[in-house]
Amino acid sequence: MITQTRIMFVSPNALLGGGEINQMLLASHLDRARFVPEVVVSADGPYSDELRARDIPVKVLSIRPVRVGSRKLPSPAAAALLYRYIRKRRPHIVHSSSLPEDLHSSVAGRMAGVPVVHDAQTIIYRAAPFDRWRAAVSARVICISHAIRNSMARARLPVHNTEVIYSGVDLAEHARADGRKFREEFGLADAPVVGIASRLSPEKGHDYFLRAAAALKERFPNARFLVVGGATYAPRQYEMYLKDLSHALGLDNCVIFTGFRRDVLNAIAAMDVLVCAADEEALGRVVLEAMALGKPVVATKAGGPCETVEDGVTGMLVRPNDSRSLAAAIARMLENPENAGQMGRRARERAESSYSIEQNVARVQEVYRIVRAQHAARRAR
Ligand code: UDP
Repeated sequence: MITQTRIMFVSPNALLGGGEINQMLLASHLDRARFVPEVVVSADGPYSDELRARDIPVKVLSIRPVRVGSRKLPSPAAAALLYRYIRKRRPHIVHSSSLPEDLHSSVAGRMAGVPVVHDAQTIIYRAAPFDRWRAAVSARVICISHAIRNSMARARLPVHNTEVIYSGVDLAEHARADGRKFREEFGLADAPVVGIASRLSPEKGHDYFLRAAAALKERFPNARFLVVGGATYAPRQYEMYLKDLSHALGLDNCVIFTGFRRDVLNAIAAMDVLVCAADEEALGRVVLEAMALGKPVVATKAGGPCETVEDGVTGMLVRPNDSRSLAAAIARMLENPENAGQMGRRARERAESSYSIEQNVARVQEVYRIVRAQHAARRAR
């Protein structure tokens, strides 16, 4: 008789980034008749609050990495702690996030004899020795885009046990998003609104966004440029730098820094165009969210958006690190609202057909089924 499959998710973060949102949506949409989720986090915070609000059991364990200079390294004490907890709870599968500091999931899972599925959610530029070990010992590696899988192959990491499964968005939640409320809060009335919604971190390309805004402000004097997001992981200096830059570029009247917004979907719903200006996005869940909200996207042609945005059909792709190309694409959207609206409608259709959370969950559940069956077969030998 097949029993319910207990899945222990592990996240070394207490804050809410794209990886945590992916994990939370997956955990909360699992078929509870077949799967029992539990999430181990390193500290209480916005992430554990959100999990509890969604009725997902949370365990706080001190599994933070150790800091050596600017690097975060896996901690042997964290691995030992997690190992003891896995032995106590006896999950069938440990599902770990991809962050380098989350190596302790692989160590603890392996020591406890529990198969580990791990997410690959970042582009690998240079593989550390432990990346190779972790990729090799994982029962399955879920890459959230082909760009990630390709980067693993380039870095000579094993890819035989990888599978590309795009993250999903909760379409019902998107249907409830209220852009008007957000426009009211910021006094945007019916101004054209262009926005970026990312944690404030240099690789997200906010400075190109601000420079593009500066290039457009005279041509589109009513336009407002929203910077939605906070310094989730990066030091606050970057936020200060961006605010200073915005001021120096003369954007005080047209750029609005909203800070981190839990109601980010309302913020995106308030936009006419969403910009993803990152140097190279691993996937860019925010792009999928904008698509699901029927917004055309202007994204840099690097990484995930090359797979999710069809240039000229659901949005536009521009060269990374190039504020002039970015400004030109935004201008085309603002000048042709009808065309932009049509791209947005096609984007929504694409999100509905390809990026629903239901599709994501069905594929991950199938991974769990296979991993559990393979593990059982190995033990029976
Ligand atoms: N986000 C949010 N509030 C904000 C800004 C961003 O909740 O103020 C969300 C955004 O909607 C997306 C996630 O944070 O779901 C960021 O994911 P993405 O893959 O775009 O970037 P990551 O942070 O994972 O690199």
